[in-house]
Amino acid sequence: MPKLSNRVNTFTDSVIRRMTRISDEYGAINLSQGFPDFDPPKEILDELAKVAYQGPHQYSVTFGAENFREALAAKQGKAIGRSIDPEEEIVVTCGGTEAMMCAMMTICNPGDKVMVFSPFYENYGADAILSGADPIYIPLVPPEYNFDIQLIEKGFQQGAKAIIVCNPSNPCGKVFSREELVQIGELAVKYDAFVVTDEVYEHMVYAPYQHTCMASLPGMYEHTITCNSLSKTYSITGWRLGYLIGPKEVIEAAKKVHDFLTVGAAAPLQEAATVGLKFPESYYEELLKTYTKKREYFLKGLDEIGLKHNIPQGTYFVLIDIQEFLDLPQFHGWTDLEFCEWMIKNIGVAAVPGSSFFKEEVNHLIRLHFAREEKTIDEALERLKKLQELLK
Ligand code: GLN
Repeated sequence: MPKLSNRVNTFTDSVIRRMTRISDEYGAINLSQGFPDFDPPKEILDELAKVAYQGPHQYSVTFGAENFREALAAKQGKAIGRSIDPEEEIVVTCGGTEAMMCAMMTICNPGDKVMVFSPFYENYGADAILSGADPIYIPLVPPEYNFDIQLIEKGFQQGAKAIIVCNPSNPCGKVFSREELVQIGELAVKYDAFVVTDEVYEHMVYAPYQHTCMASLPGMYEHTITCNSLSKTYSITGWRLGYLIGPKEVIEAAKKVHDFLTVGAAAPLQEAATVGLKFPESYYEELLKTYTKKREYFLKGLDEIGLKHNIPQGTYFVLIDIQEFLDLPQFHGWTDLEFCEWMIKNIGVAAVPGSSFFKEEVNHLIRLHFAREEKTIDEALERLKKLQELLK
């Protein structure tokens, strides 16, 4: 067998997505990979039905269908607080995943350094490797998941080309305050670096926290590449619709990378999703209400069972502390991954082992999400009660 590339030996498959496969195999309730179990908005589905017969079914413009980009520019222009040129400042990608990969390939040379907060969304590790960049990890310190701005300055002094900011943050649910973003942004400007943001949970920010786009801060548009997706906002994770927004010189280059990576996102799905991009403000208010309710319901359930957890400021993820279980004789010496596999088979609930999000040696956390119908959350909580019985 001829040898494969060295690069493929330097990272594993996604543990998040692996947990979904194991969960499906054992018929567990899947609270691992984050996606909703409810339908997308009816207006989008009705439009999809129309598109099935009316098209388009052939390629759209490689960097995104014109009407889709126009609707996107209008919506995100409001969030960023400036007018965005749909021709020159947007690339539509196959999901937020390609957007992030495309951003990294566009700005990084092999050997460049990129700062990544830890815990991080696991894709960033692979994005760095595939684009040849070396990550510098900046700890987000619990319980508030604060960071030391001096470490970020040190990272820039070591030549970091960019910093990745996932806001709201997967998996810890941190919402970066405006002040924190200003601090990071000022350093990016001072050291002439980029901020690459991942804002896919922008509409899941719980009061009193508020979402601030890095690109909206004074002087930051020229230094920011905003990565985002429609997956979470319209409950269409399988449609793989994402995008990058940035200054036109960056986007011109990103268009080339994207063109040769994937040519384009699915044309019929862009057409149908355009309806969603034009929804009034009330849609996003309702979405937030729905998730706020689910968050309260799930956290209350966890409290009633007695599972220790963080309180996410945004996203639909919760980190659960499993140390007290790992201290039991039957789990002695187990990894969090082994514990999650055991949970799928014996408790019937799938979680993601926390170690897949941390640079540090962290073995005592697992991640659950609550993007589920209430009855599914009820059943998951009922099953999780069995965990607590182990402590009796
Ligand atoms: N962001 C989601 C999660 O962390 C999954 C996204 C994906 O798998 N592409 O679970």
